[in-house]
Amino acid sequence: METLQIGGVSSRALADQYGTPLYVYDENKIRKQAAAAMANFRSKQFDTEVVYASKAFSCAALFRLLAAEGLGFDVVSGGELYCAMRIGADMKKVYFHGNNKSDQEIEMGLDAGIGYFVVDNMMECARLFDIAERKRLQTKALLRINPGISAHTHEYIMTAAPDSKFGIYIENRQQIDAVIQKLSRSKYVKFAGFHSHIGSQIVDAGSFTKALDTMIDFLAEMKREQDLDNLELSIGGGFGIRYVEADAPLPLGEMCKTLISHTERRLAEKDVHLSKLITEPGRAMVGEAGCTLYTIGDMKESGDKNYIFVDGGMSDNIRHALYDAEYTGVLANKCDRPSEKTYCIAGKNCESGDILIADMQLPKAAPGDLLAVLSTGAYGYSMASNYNRLGRPAVVFAKDGQARLIIRRETYEDQYRLEV
Ligand SMILES: *Cc1c(COP(=O)(O)O)cnc(C)c1O
Repeated sequence: METLQIGGVSSRALADQYGTPLYVYDENKIRKQAAAAMANFRSKQFDTEVVYASKAFSCAALFRLLAAEGLGFDVVSGGELYCAMRIGADMKKVYFHGNNKSDQEIEMGLDAGIGYFVVDNMMECARLFDIAERKRLQTKALLRINPGISAHTHEYIMTAAPDSKFGIYIENRQQIDAVIQKLSRSKYVKFAGFHSHIGSQIVDAGSFTKALDTMIDFLAEMKREQDLDNLELSIGGGFGIRYVEADAPLPLGEMCKTLISHTERRLAEKDVHLSKLITEPGRAMVGEAGCTLYTIGDMKESGDKNYIFVDGGMSDNIRHALYDAEYTGVLANKCDRPSEKTYCIAGKNCESGDILIADMQLPKAAPGDLLAVLSTGAYGYSMASNYNRLGRPAVVFAKDGQARLIIRRETYEDQYRLEV
């Protein structure tokens, strides 16, 4: 019987050695994505930077791997920054995002000498100004703009309502000018440009080029009205991946190439110059490289559903429960058998919504079989919880027939150690 191999390692051997549930990453797939972005997100006309959006999955081993490939890090919290600091990441390539950074987090970023704060609002701008003044520490700031475009998968919609939680609405020139004016008076915080991020799991280039056009038109106005040119522009992340058969995302390298050439063309048309273009892929860097191995436990017919119960659930992958995300999977120890039955894959958490896959065809399954849910590498571990006091699973990197443990399984004691 054929067994699923990940990075040249048998899924059965992985399950036996490390237990289940288990997140397994094919390390070469991560490296390939990183290399594709680094090689294709390049221009002769302006500097470029590829920054990994840590929220998709952050851990020391991954950060080391990506830092070695030349990527910077987008962090949203002191915790993510701490991890980047611990592995000795180049702090000049760290971008601190988030709409409500605490004073402590701002101080931590300044002390660490990070390259950029992505400023969300006027209050944050004033706090960053004051704290940098007090500490006499230099940094750069990008202002997050809400370009009025939000995208999900294929369509983009112009959101008329400028009511997003993130950034300052592009037409709110009064607030935008106030931030620029304020920072022009700072000896320590240099206003460097703008950032926008339009959404996630976007599979074609259209929404991104639309956002680029909007942002470059905006830069042209800034040049005209404020005599600001040669700014830096971060276009965020959001590149889609394949979760199920029907998903057909543009490969990351192609996407990068398209965005660069589109930017070069649009800049020329508008007579605007950029000093740097930045992109921040998260999901696309790690999503398809990861899968989750579960052991099938009990099975049950309930109404017209055939349930397979696995030894994890929404505590290690909340995405279906949270927003109906779709996944597919394979019976890892019987992956050459034909599918013959429709199953509903449910977890062991105490919620009726604790479903991983609502219905999928599989070969006839039995307790003890291994189920691999595919493309769980992004927003799986990073959104995992201790709900029902299930310990967070272990994480393994597999490569060229070898596996290594990178995060160990959380024990009861690990959870209990916080009790006072
Ligand atoms: C979430 C986010 C990203 C990464 O999004 P992905 O869909 O994981 O690529 C990048 N930049 C910002 C500001 C984000 O909020």
